[in-house]
Amino acid sequence: MSEALAGLPPLRDSLAAHGLLAKKSFGQHFLLDLNITRKIARLAAVGADDHVIEVGPGPGGLTRALLETGARVTTIEKDERFRPLLEELATLCPALSLVFGDALQVDEAALAQGAPAHVVSNLPYNVGTPLLINWLTGPWTPASLTLMFQREVADRIVATVGDEAYGRLAVVVQATCQAQRVMDVPARAFTPPPKVESAVVRLVPRPDRPEPDLLKALERVTAAAFGQRRKMLRSSLKVLGGEAFVVAAGLDPQVRAETVDLAGFLRLAEVLRRPAA
Ligand code: SAM
Repeated sequence: MSEALAGLPPLRDSLAAHGLLAKKSFGQHFLLDLNITRKIARLAAVGADDHVIEVGPGPGGLTRALLETGARVTTIEKDERFRPLLEELATLCPALSLVFGDALQVDEAALAQGAPAHVVSNLPYNVGTPLLINWLTGPWTPASLTLMFQREVADRIVATVGDEAYGRLAVVVQATCQAQRVMDVPARAFTPPPKVESAVVRLVPRPDRPEPDLLKALERVTAAAFGQRRKMLRSSLKVLGGEAFVVAAGLDPQVRAETVDLAGFLRLAEVLRRPAA
């Protein structure tokens, strides 16, 4: 396998040979430097016994690095133009399986076949957050996630109470996993370079994550609270019961969402989930 990978042409030549140019509508910014994709594969800490699901392989730079670790890789690519190039790679590497379609519509549980699978991806920016929320709160949970985001989104993912970027996303992330920003990637590392800087975040789901109905309640509470983040909770949570609702969770109704920690939001979600007496 590694011999097959070593014999591959540089990614730039593969793109040129297939007449492929990046398309803006698919959020395409490619990593053509194998040193960077190998570093991401190392940070993902995957290896020979692992199954990796990669969203958006594009020309396959990260895919090559993941295959080099000895992992089995399943890619999901929406842009059909990459089919011939990726099929060439899959012919050389039997550990690679290809799926073509929209990752938002794919049933990852079916791809994983009941075994643990890790998600590693240089995500298309336009679908990165909805995909992350699905993986954190949906019916299928990855063993780990190593994901590239624009830096400002990475900040919102790892923010803690008191940080400027603390909000809905940070609360849902903290409730469901351990998250760490593990690598900053400058815009110039991509072809073509995006207008923003990027960062890789590694997330490991907690074994004790809240039950699905509590998570659903948490999403409702955080949506309402951070939807009007400058207001006191008694106002921003008026639709859920206002002051009495906040007091029932043991919180001061005069505080604002940005000062409430995960434990506080979980108590609010518990109250929301509780059947009315
Ligand atoms: N992994 C490649 C790399 O690092 O060079 C490409 C990354 S590029 C930022 C994002 C990739 O995701 C593109 O190949 C794009 O076609 C693909 N993509 C965009 N939207 C998608 C979706 N909804 N489902 C699956 N793939 C998608």
